[in-house]
Order: sequence, then structure tokens, then C-alpha cells
Amino acid sequence: MTADATPVPPAGRRLRFASLGSGSKGNATLVSDGETHVLVDCGFGLRETERRLARFGLHPRQLAAVLVTHEHGDHIRGVGPLARRHHLPVYLSAGTWLSRRLGEVPRHTLITPQARFAIAGLEIDPVTVPHDAREPVQFRFHAHRRSLGILTDLGHPSEHVIERFRGCDALVLECNHDPRLLADGPYPPSLKRRVGGDWGHLANAQASRLLGRLGLDRLQHIVCSHLSEQNNRPELARDALEPLLDGDTGRLTVAAQAHGFDWRDVA
Ligand SMILES: [Zn+2]
Ligand SMILES: [Zn+2]
Repeated sequence: MTADATPVPPAGRRLRFASLGSGSKGNATLVSDGETHVLVDCGFGLRETERRLARFGLHPRQLAAVLVTHEHGDHIRGVGPLARRHHLPVYLSAGTWLSRRLGEVPRHTLITPQARFAIAGLEIDPVTVPHDAREPVQFRFHAHRRSLGILTDLGHPSEHVIERFRGCDALVLECNHDPRLLADGPYPPSLKRRVGGDWGHLANAQASRLLGRLGLDRLQHIVCSHLSEQNNRPELARDALEPLLDGDTGRLTVAAQAHGFDWRDVA
């Protein structure tokens, strides 16, 4: 990753998060309370995931669990191999498990959408999102009286999503595509309809409207994520969100497919 990528301290008092990579070709997000580290999704192969974790000074066995949002390949490609190789527990909804896309894993725990659960010091709310998978959820994390929302892979901002993600201190927010680039791009018509539809992915302008409704008062970090390399550009995502920031653009970043983003501490 970058020169300032630092290992997780042995004991910390901060909710923090980082990304191994984000976009239509693979997603994996690290969340930590300073002691317990979990991985949300793993859309990279085993060796690639190990390599990317090493950039953060982490060995897979230092992970307490892998949490899965849904069964699409850009989120689960490496989940089974990583869990089997390193004996990691996997948390996922019944629908995601019943998709049978993960293969065998050493231990899986079924989570109930809207029902909070905990992994050591991390408390986690799984939230149902409108997306074309069996039983997709996104996650809101709580630790040290701070909260982080991870909100990608949703076709539109439902009232339920707005209610559940309001008042976060940090937010990883999908800015998947620009409608014009999608329309003019190389995808076949059926895929264009899927991506741009109500159960597909969030366009930049939709992300902006959602962010406005969630409220920005508490947000220390906003990370535009899950950008399509074909149908979006980082500057378009920025342009969509920056007008909401009242000039305070330092808290906005764009996650990259190749490098994700470095640790962000929630103060
Ligand atoms: Zn998806
Ligand atoms: Zn995805």
C-alpha cells in the first residue's frame, strides 16, 4: 500500500477501518477496535488477500472473523479459501449461506438482519439493503462510542437504510457509476439495466442525495467506494459529493480498486 501503512497497534482505543481494495472487481474492508480485527467481504483470491493484508502488517490468523454482505463474486471470491486455510469463522445471513456460493467453511454463524451481534468489542448491526442477491445486508459497526457505516451494493436508498445509517461518525459509501458513462459504455443492455436499476448499484447522484439525508454533522470520514472502473471516474464521484461538504473536503476520499485506502481512525 502506501508508505504510511502501519501495523495495527497491539492495544488501541479507536474504531478504525481500511480497505484492501474496492470496486466492481473485488472488495474487502478491515474494521478494528484496536484489538479485534474483522474483514468485511473478501473479493480477492487467497494469495492476493494474504498479500494485501501483509501491506497492513496483518496475518490472516489475526482476523477474528470474516463478515459477508452477500454472495456476489466481488465480495466472496476469497472467503471460502481464506476461511479454510486459516480456520476463520464466517458470519453471514441465511440467504447468503443458502446460495451455496461459499463452499465449505470451518465454522459459520448465521446472522439475522436488523438484529445486533458482537464479535469481542465490536458491536455490529446488519442492515437489509435493496440489491439483487438472496439476502443482502450491509453493516454498521459500533466501538468506543463511535460508529462506522459500510454501505455499498444497494440499488436505491430505501427509507430503512436511511433510518439505520443516520448519525454515523464515518461512512464507506457506494458511488458506483455515472449514468451517462453507464449508458454510453460497453455493457450489454441487460447488465446496464441491472446496474442502473432499483436492485443494482448506487449512482453518484443517488449517493449524494443519500448522504444529504443521512446528515454530515458527525461524519469525520466519507469514503466513496465500489466505483466501477468502466462506468465511473474518481473525479465524478468527488464532484457529486463535495458540494455537501461546505468546503471541508479533507474528510472525503475515494477508494481504489488496486489499493483500497489506508487506515482511517475515528476519533
Ligand atoms: Zn453485489
Ligand atoms: Zn459488489
